[in-house]
Amino acid sequence: METADEADICRVCRSEGTPDKPLYHPCVCTGSIKFIHQECLVQWLKHSRKEYCELCKHRFAFTPIYSPDMPPRLPIQDICAGLLTSVGTAIRYWFHYTLVAFAWLGVVPLTACRIYKCLFTGSVSSLLTLPLDMLSTENLLADCLQGCFVVTCSLCAFISLVWLREQIVHGGPPLWLEHHQQPQPNAAGQQPNEAAGAGQGAADDPPAAPPAPAAPPAHNEAEPEPPDGLPEQGEEPELDNEEEGAAAEDADANNGAQDDMNWNALEWDRAAEELTWERMLGLDGSLVFLEHVFWVVSLNTLFILVFAFCPYHIGHFSVVGLGFEEYVQASHFEGLITTIVGYILLAMTLILCHGFAALVRFQRSRRLLGVCYIVVKVSLLVVVEIGVFPLICGWWLDICSLEMFDASLKDRELSFKSAPGTTMFLHWLVGMVYVFYFASFILLLREVLRPGVLWFLRNLNDPDFNPVQEMIHLPIYRHLRRFILSVVVFGSIVLLMLWLPIRMIKVFLPAFLPYNVLLYSDAPVSELSLELLLLQVVLPALLEQGHTRQWLKGLVRTWTVSAGYLLDLHSYLLGEQEDNEANQPVNNNNNNPAPGHHNNNPAHVVGEGLHAAHQAILQQGGPIGFQPYQRPLRFPFRIVLLIGFMCVTLLVASLVCLTLPVFAGRWLMSFWTGSSKIHELYTAACGLYVCWLSIRGATVLLAWMPQGRTIIMIKVQEWTLMILKTLVVALLVAGVIPLLLGLLFELVIVAPLRVPLDQTPLFYPWQDWALGVLHAKIIAAITLMGPQWWLKSVIEQVYANGIRNIDLHFIIRKLAAPVISVLLLSLCVPYVIAAGVVPTVGVTPEMQILIQRRIYPFLLMVVSIIGILSFQIRQFKRLYEHIKNDKYLVGQRLVNYERKARGASSVPPPNPIPE
Ligand SMILES: [Zn+2]
Ligand SMILES: [Zn+2]
Repeated sequence: METADEADICRVCRSEGTPDKPLYHPCVCTGSIKFIHQECLVQWLKHSRKEYCELCKHRFAFTPIYSPDMPPRLPIQDICAGLLTSVGTAIRYWFHYTLVAFAWLGVVPLTACRIYKCLFTGSVSSLLTLPLDMLSTENLLADCLQGCFVVTCSLCAFISLVWLREQIVHGGPPLWLEHHQQPQPNAAGQQPNEAAGAGQGAADDPPAAPPAPAAPPAHNEAEPEPPDGLPEQGEEPELDNEEEGAAAEDADANNGAQDDMNWNALEWDRAAEELTWERMLGLDGSLVFLEHVFWVVSLNTLFILVFAFCPYHIGHFSVVGLGFEEYVQASHFEGLITTIVGYILLAMTLILCHGFAALVRFQRSRRLLGVCYIVVKVSLLVVVEIGVFPLICGWWLDICSLEMFDASLKDRELSFKSAPGTTMFLHWLVGMVYVFYFASFILLLREVLRPGVLWFLRNLNDPDFNPVQEMIHLPIYRHLRRFILSVVVFGSIVLLMLWLPIRMIKVFLPAFLPYNVLLYSDAPVSELSLELLLLQVVLPALLEQGHTRQWLKGLVRTWTVSAGYLLDLHSYLLGEQEDNEANQPVNNNNNNPAPGHHNNNPAHVVGEGLHAAHQAILQQGGPIGFQPYQRPLRFPFRIVLLIGFMCVTLLVASLVCLTLPVFAGRWLMSFWTGSSKIHELYTAACGLYVCWLSIRGATVLLAWMPQGRTIIMIKVQEWTLMILKTLVVALLVAGVIPLLLGLLFELVIVAPLRVPLDQTPLFYPWQDWALGVLHAKIIAAITLMGPQWWLKSVIEQVYANGIRNIDLHFIIRKLAAPVISVLLLSLCVPYVIAAGVVPTVGVTPEMQILIQRRIYPFLLMVVSIIGILSFQIRQFKRLYEHIKNDKYLVGQRLVNYERKARGASSVPPPNPIPE
C-alpha cells in the first residue's frame, strides 16, 4: 500500500495524496489517470459541466455527509416548512409565468389587433376611443388570434428587411444607385448595362465594400432576437451607413462609418451576451421582459403604420379617385389589392423623387429614396413571383381540367363567391405544387442533358443563383418580360399535358370521364379502411422518392438518347464526352458542313442580355455552364422536329398517366365493390400501386436476367424467405397487435362512453383493427420521441435492421411476444374477473352486467391512480431528501469505484473505502 501510494498522483494536479487531501479512484480508468483529488474533480466537473468521466463514461458518485446532530427522522415542522416554501416557490413561478404568458399572448397581440383595427376603420373618433377599445373585453380570443397574425406579419417584415439590407450590402447596390462618378445622374434606370452589373457586382462597388466586413456581426446579433429593443438599432446602422456613404464621398468618411459600425458591433456583442431567449421572453424570472413587450408593441405599431396603413390609404385614395372602386370591391380582396396598388404607386413616386433628387444633386436623399425604392420593388416582385404566379398557374390548371371532373366555370364562380379566401388559397397551393414539380423535373433534365442546352431556364442548383440579387439588380421591365414568358411556358404546358389529353379521352373513350370525386356515404367499402390503406401502404411506397426519381431519370435519358440519334442531335443534347466511343459516323456527317466546334447557339442572339448575364454569373462561380457541341445540317429544322417530338411524347405520357392507373384501379376495385362507384382517389391510388409494383418487378427481373439461372433461383429463394418473414412480422406487428390494441381501446373508452347499459355493445374487428393501426403508430411515435426504455431500444433496433436484415427471432422474442402478452393479459384479466369470479360470489344479474361492462374503465382508473400515487410518493421522498440536505448536509465524499466481481462481499454499491 505504501509503495503504491508513493507512485499515485492526482490526474489533474499531479501531486500526491495527503491525509487531509486523500486520493480517490472514482471511475473505471486505471493506470496513471486512476487517482484524483476530490477538490480537483469537483472543480473539473464544475468547469466541464459533466457528471461522468469523459474517458470511461462512468458516472461519479458522491455520498452525502450529514452533520452529527441530525435526528434519525426529520421533525414534522421541518417538513411542513419545506412543503410551504416549495408551494410558495411554485406559486411565485406560476404567477410569473402567467404574467409572461399574459404579456406575450395577451397584451401584445391584443394591442396589435386593436391598433390595427383602429387605424383601418379610418375615422377620427376611433382614434379617440382607442384607449377604451384597448380595455374592452369583446371578442378577446378572436382578437388575440388576429393580433398574433398581425405580429407575425410585422415580425416577418422586419426579418426580411434586415435580410434584404444584408443582401444589398453584400451584393452591392445596383449601379444606378452608386454612380456618383458618372456625369449624368438622371439616366437612372436605363443607362448602365445590367448584365455587367449582375456579373461583376462585387467588383463594381468599392464604396459599399468597406462597410461589408463590419456588417455580418451586426446581422448575427440582429437575427436571433428580432422582437426586442434591437430592432431600432437594426435600422440605425443602415441609415448611418447610407447617410455617411452618401454625404461624403472620400475615404475619410467611409472610415468614419466603419468606426461607427465597429462601435455598434461592440455594443451589440455585449448586448447579445446578456440577452438570451429566456431572458428576452422573461422565462428566467426577471421582469426585464416588460421593457421588451413595450418595444415589440411600439415597433409593431410603427410597422403597421409604415407598411400597411400608408400604402393602403395611398392605394385607396387613388382607387377612389380613378373610379375603380366597384371593380376592387367585386374582387373580394379589397384590402390586399388596394395595398398592392398603393405599393405600386409608392414605387413610382419614389422613382420620380429619386430622379428629381438626382437632378438637384441631393445625394443623401437620392440614396435614401433609391434604397426605399429597392425595398418596395423587391417586395412587389416577391408578391408577384410567389403569390400571383402560382395563383395564375392554379387557376389555369383548374380551368383546363374542368371537364375531367364534370364541372363548369359556373361552379367555380359559385364556390369562389361562397368562400373566396379558401378557393384562392387552394388554387395557389395547387399552382405552387405544379411549379415545384416543374422545377424538380427541370433539375432532373439538367442532370441528363448537356450543360448549356437549357440556357433559357434558371438553374436552381447553381450556387451563384440568387433570385433576390436579381430582384435588386435587374430592371423591372426585364422581370416583367420573364414573368410573361414563364406564364406562357407554364400555361402552354398545362394545355398540352392536361387539356389536350382530356379532349382526346373525351373523344375516344366517352364513358371514361369524368372522374368520380363525390363521396358516397353508403359505399359498401368502409371509407375509413380505404383511407388507411391509402395512407399506410400506397403513399409510403410512392414516396420512395429515390427510386421514382432514378427511374424517371432513366426514362428521360433513354428518350434523349433515342431522340438524339433519330434527329442526329446527339452531340447537341448530350455533349461530346459521351459519344466519344460512338461518334465516328456522326463526326463524318458533321465535319463537312460545319468544321470546328460552334460555341454559338443561334438562339443566343435572341436572349442575349439575359443569357449573357446568366453566363457571367455562371462563369464567375467556377462551374462551367456551357459545353461546346457539333451542329449538324439544317440545325433549326432539327430543333423544331425535336420540340415537336417532345410535345408528342409529353402528350402521350400524360395520356397514359391520366388513364392507365384509374383504369387498372377501376378494374381491380370492381372485383371488390361490384359496379358501384367509388372515389377516384382510391381507384387511382390502387391502380398506381399496381402499376408501380409490376414495373418494379419487371425492372428487378431485368436486372437479374443476365446473371444466369442458378443465381436467379438463389435470389428468388432469398426473396421468398424474406417475404415470408416479412409476412409473419406484418401479421404480428400490423395485424394482431393493432387488433388487440383497438379492441382494448374500444372496451376501455369507446364502449362505456357510447353504449348505455341496457344495450349490448357490438364490436367490428375490422374497424377495431383500423383504429388500432392508428393507435399503434401514435404509440410508436411517442415511444421513439420519449426517454429510453426497453420498448424504444427494441423499436429502434427493428428500424435499424430494416426489411433486408429482418430478424424474425428477435422481433418475436423482444417485441411481439411481450407486447402481445401484455395486451392479452389486460384484455383477459378483467374478463376473467367479471365473467368467472364475480358470478361465483353470488351477486344479482344486474350487478353482474354492470361489473362486466364497467370493469375495464374501472381497472384503468385503478391503474392510473396507483401510478399517480407512486409518482407523488416519489416526489415527496425527493422533497424530504431536499429538506434534509438543506438543513443537515455538511459535505459530500467521493465514492471509489468498486469492481462488481471483486466487491461481491460489499453489497451496497456506494461503499466508500476509508483511507
Ligand atoms: Zn489534485
Ligand atoms: Zn474514467
